[in-house]
Amino acid sequence: MTMPITLKDITIHPVIEQQGPFFDAMGFFPKLTKELLDENRPWLQPAFLDPADKLMLCIQSFVIKTPHHNILVDACVGNHKPRPTRPFWHMMNSDRFEKSLAAAGLTVNDIDYVMCTHLHTDHVGWNTKLENGRWVPTFPKAKYIMADRELEHWTARQKDNPDSVPWITDSVLPIIAAKRAQIVKSDFAFSDNVQFIPTPGHTIDHFSVLVGRAGADALITGDMIHSPLQGKYPELGMMADYDSPQAGTTRRKVFDRFCEEPTVMCATHFPAPSTGRVRRWGDGFKFVDAAI
Ligand SMILES: [Zn+2]
Repeated sequence: MTMPITLKDITIHPVIEQQGPFFDAMGFFPKLTKELLDENRPWLQPAFLDPADKLMLCIQSFVIKTPHHNILVDACVGNHKPRPTRPFWHMMNSDRFEKSLAAAGLTVNDIDYVMCTHLHTDHVGWNTKLENGRWVPTFPKAKYIMADRELEHWTARQKDNPDSVPWITDSVLPIIAAKRAQIVKSDFAFSDNVQFIPTPGHTIDHFSVLVGRAGADALITGDMIHSPLQGKYPELGMMADYDSPQAGTTRRKVFDRFCEEPTVMCATHFPAPSTGRVRRWGDGFKFVDAAI
């Protein structure tokens, strides 16, 4: 089992739904060349790349336990959701998320806030669950915190073409309808030890979550990075980016800021344990073991 991260009186627990080789590396990173992949294969394999050149990815949430709140950052894929273009996420019916939450000592009733780093299908799924044919909030007491421009962007797309964004229909709009959403700016200060950092590019108004205080802190990245290959090459964009050049600028800026700090990166899509400290590596960055 993956260990929680302890930052004084705060702990961060991974809640894993899935881990495996989901996407072909060359398709996932459209500008990745065969030569570059060959050059990096020795350090990427076996942890980050499988023998068939598929990226090893984790689908997970993180729970932040503070003395006052239990906060879930992101909400994986969810159950019973029609995702016909992604067979490995289509109509899932799994108890892995719930069991992983239980391993952190929690049930859905214990979550006070859900923070959505962005509104992609693999980050909003457990926002809702199916109950008597309706999508209802999974976490009965939670407020769901979303960035304003992110929500505007996706609701406009849903209005234009609902079939292109089914996860907005079943996992975001029911939260708004239930009046559970708290809409904020992507630099929102939730408290003196939980702060949003705007990390735009992968989506229009993506944020990461900085937890703790200087000297004992962690950054939950969300999808500002998907693979350590994007540490070595910060400008390497991924297939679903809203603005890949902006995502590259964001990565460089964030890694420059933290590369001499003890800040632990909790990289949502890195395979477990998904944590590391970022350090310079040539013109890019690497992740080193974060022994806590
Ligand atoms: Zn994602």
